[in-house]
Amino acid sequence: MKKYDYLIVGAGPWGSVFAHEATKRGKKCLVIDRRPHTGGNTYCKEVEGINVHTYGAHIFHTNDKAIWDYVNSFVEFNRYTNSPVANYKGELYNLPFNMNTFYQLWGVTTPEEAKAKIAEQVAEAGITEPQNLEEQAISLVGTDMYQKLIKAYTEKQWGRKATELPSFIIKRLPVRFTFDNNYFNDRYQGIPIGGYNKLTEGLLAGVEVRLGVDFTEEREDLSQLADTVVYTGKIDEYFDFRFGALEYRSLRFDHETLDTGNFQGNAVVNYTDAETPFTRIIEHKHFEFGTQPKTVVTREYPQEWSEGAEPYYPINDSKNDTLYRQYKALAEAEEKVIFGGRLAEYRYYDMHQVIGSALKKVRDHFGDQ
Ligand code: UDP
Repeated sequence: MKKYDYLIVGAGPWGSVFAHEATKRGKKCLVIDRRPHTGGNTYCKEVEGINVHTYGAHIFHTNDKAIWDYVNSFVEFNRYTNSPVANYKGELYNLPFNMNTFYQLWGVTTPEEAKAKIAEQVAEAGITEPQNLEEQAISLVGTDMYQKLIKAYTEKQWGRKATELPSFIIKRLPVRFTFDNNYFNDRYQGIPIGGYNKLTEGLLAGVEVRLGVDFTEEREDLSQLADTVVYTGKIDEYFDFRFGALEYRSLRFDHETLDTGNFQGNAVVNYTDAETPFTRIIEHKHFEFGTQPKTVVTREYPQEWSEGAEPYYPINDSKNDTLYRQYKALAEAEEKVIFGGRLAEYRYYDMHQVIGSALKKVRDHFGDQ
């Protein structure tokens, strides 16, 4: 008899949902994480009474009522609506691309004029079937918008030419012909009241957790503890990088506490020119409508992932996706190991997709609908 039914590697949202659901079904779980805290990249650190998104801004949004109700059953969410501002060489534009942006860029005041302007620029560019992110962006919003708000931001973020990136990345952003600065089209959106750690605490209540434990280093001993391993780490690392390493985009966060109540008047300001070395400044208090006397801001510097850095964004180009499929075939042949989450599935997942993926796996695995 093993001591646990499940050893869950990784205390981020995917692992925490699995642990919660398995525990609810009477299973004994042990969750381990190499970091000194739970929550994965949603973990927040309190500074001056402000929840600082240590691993980058996390804004929860979903169209799925069941997922929204699920997260709200652990902690109530506030009414935060993401509406970033873009700063291009001192000029400010609303995001996502909407009538406010079109007015700011071209002075057009009606949807008809905006559409005509875009159509004119798309025709000039001569793109009929977009093959990459650059062509996709131009065909959605025209050349001016691409040059001022997309090209440099994208190339800083990904460290690759926009012509070498998959077009799905830009399709994440809505384009709308209404005066609506909501970054997401989803019906539900918000930040947990009191911070993301409350969500993690709710999910992991009553579950045994050991922190600072590295699965890769103690794999043999740890695997003895449970019948089934649930692995949410990097899939290439699990297989000892035998086909080569998958590529990721990483970030360096420069956090700063300032002696002012309000630095930039918005949670997210993107810097879309090529000269500014960071992509955005996050002012964390605005996610929770904070009124603290001080503020904490974070500048985000994209960098290539290398050993020791955090693997934030999978690079889902064809080269990496092909490599991933090789690892996936090994994972499917692995008995008594369940793989899931952003790193194990090598997917550019938002949080609601992570939760959806974990709940689906739970349903498939436990055989309940
Ligand atoms: N993007 C852009 N300009 C912006 C914001 C986003 O060109 O001001 C592009 C960029 O390619 C980015 C993609 O849109 O990688 C997706 O942006 P999103 O805000 O969804 O990225 P995340 O918040 O996941 O980093």
